[in-house]
Amino acid sequence: APGAKVEKKAAPVPGGDVWSGVWVVIEYNRGEVAPVSWELLGEGRKLANDIGCELAGVLVGHDVEAVIPEAFAHGAEKVYVVDDPVLKDYRTQPYAEAVADLVRRYQPEIILMGATAMGRDMFPVVATKMQTGLTADCTVLSIDPDSKLLLQTRPAFGGNIMATILCKTRRPQMATVRPRVMAMPERVEGRTGEVVREELGMTEDQVLTKIVDFIKGDAKSIFLDKAEILVAVGLGLGSKKNMVLAEELAEVLGATLAGTRGAVEAGWITHDRQVGQTGVTVRPKLYIAIGISGAIQHLVGMETSDSIIAINNDPDAAIFRVATYGIVGDLNEVVPALTAEFKKR
Ligand code: FAD
Repeated sequence: APGAKVEKKAAPVPGGDVWSGVWVVIEYNRGEVAPVSWELLGEGRKLANDIGCELAGVLVGHDVEAVIPEAFAHGAEKVYVVDDPVLKDYRTQPYAEAVADLVRRYQPEIILMGATAMGRDMFPVVATKMQTGLTADCTVLSIDPDSKLLLQTRPAFGGNIMATILCKTRRPQMATVRPRVMAMPERVEGRTGEVVREELGMTEDQVLTKIVDFIKGDAKSIFLDKAEILVAVGLGLGSKKNMVLAEELAEVLGATLAGTRGAVEAGWITHDRQVGQTGVTVRPKLYIAIGISGAIQHLVGMETSDSIIAINNDPDAAIFRVATYGIVGDLNEVVPALTAEFKKR
């Protein structure tokens, strides 16, 4: 009946108390796969090799057929599919139930998902259903060579330390991972594997929420994590009027503007452009850091960029430790000189 609470018993387990395999929940929503899903298949491959087990993708949604070959192309050996009209749009309850049902039945030892809005919403519910732990927002994953358990590393205490966490309940071990932290694996066209299909054990009238409407976000919304070149500003800029230096450089490079929390708090850029622990994680081809000190909370959001150019008048600034090229100098001189030089090319 509508509003009824759905209590599910664990489904019978085909192979007993096995707990084997690395799973990646592939985020598919409104016709798009979140790229972090493929990044995690790349990372999952390494973990599965270290353990000596299988790597599988989990695909929950409606009309997901076209995504299955993509999961294989990105490295999955097996894909678990739950395809049902009830799953047309993301809702916590049926999605979490579908994933938990698969976990009860097939017992993976590790389950990963992107630390996206969907992953952050769904995984705690799945972890609660499975009575296991969850490490959110990991930036490094590895396998302990002795115990073969998953070492889950994430920034803690405001980013001042990196904490490595082990799941006490042991199985399944669950983690969400920040987008863009792991490298995108090579896509191999035509790779195939096994498809396992399961039914959703839930009907529409058992779902407690209903989607009334979708309201489109602001068309001017910034997607920093998709930009190839970022020009990022920090408090070293000194004043809002100096933003013009960064804007001109961004203009000639076709770059997107970004910055530190300091720059956001000063009102020079909007919060959706903040890079770092409490902002967005980025991995552009080029990151130009102007007047940024390189606080750990900023570095965790950008240090895996392909190339980093740092401009700072303090030769000891921490940003130089992660920079590919460091320019020690006054940004009021260096940035216009760079802009003028790029204009010539
Ligand atoms: P500053 O640290 O003040 O650095 C300014 C730099 O500019 C200095 O290195 C200086 O040498 C240089 N400079 C000054 N004048 C010039 C000049 N004329 N030419 C060249 N260089 C010059 N920060 C983030 O960015 N993102 C986050 O997500 C984030 N999350 C946080 C979460 C928590 C819980 C906490 C506690 C903090 C967080 N912070 C975050 C804040 C972070 O700790 C730093 O305070 C912030 O990143 C510093 O910003 P900044 O580099 O712009 O400024």
